[in-house]
Amino acid sequence: MRLILLGPPGAGKGTQAARLVEAHGIPQLSTGDMLRAAVAAGTETGLKAKAIMEAGDLVSDDIVNQIVADRISAPDCASGVILDGYPRTLAQADAVEEMMAEKSLTLDAVVELVVDDRALVGRIVKRAEEAAAAGQPVRKDDTPEVFDERLRAYYKSTAPLTGYYYAKGQLKTVDGMGTIDEVTAEIRSVLSS
Ligand code: AMP
Repeated sequence: MRLILLGPPGAGKGTQAARLVEAHGIPQLSTGDMLRAAVAAGTETGLKAKAIMEAGDLVSDDIVNQIVADRISAPDCASGVILDGYPRTLAQADAVEEMMAEKSLTLDAVVELVVDDRALVGRIVKRAEEAAAAGQPVRKDDTPEVFDERLRAYYKSTAPLTGYYYAKGQLKTVDGMGTIDEVTAEIRSVLSS
């Protein structure tokens, strides 16, 4: 299964992706995680991405498309993949389509998690508090100030993808306001319909 998870920051894409990994035994490809790893490792990509991520803006399409193209070619992605946080722009959507066409692969579905804007910032702040309490690193962009910028970037560049995938008949919309289990159940249901 090849699946894209769409939704604003804090919608629960990462949480639901982890559950899909468990259910389907295919890898989660989170561009946010890959970029954070590059920043932590101090690679050239990481150095380019660091300040942009900390400001809540989007890293350039070229950089992100390249890291996905490299990762998606790995053997563990052969039987399927869950794209979490990618694509985030129409140019990235074109790029993923090309990557798949080159390998004669198709996208099975795009699942959009819909969550009220007002609930999102609360979830981000909670995630930061929980990470701190667990002694885990706290994301520098999980603050209300940077969140505003991330949401702005979402509406400007990513939200248009819902219309794009709807027009292709691939969009499945899920209410992301329920509990984690409820959202998981709804995703399962839309994927089997
Ligand atoms: P995330 O973990 O998905 O919330 O992503 C964290 C940050 O990484 C975003 O705010 C962007 O700065 C960057 N990022 C992640 N994925 C992408 C993408 N597909 N395109 C551009 N920037 C991205």
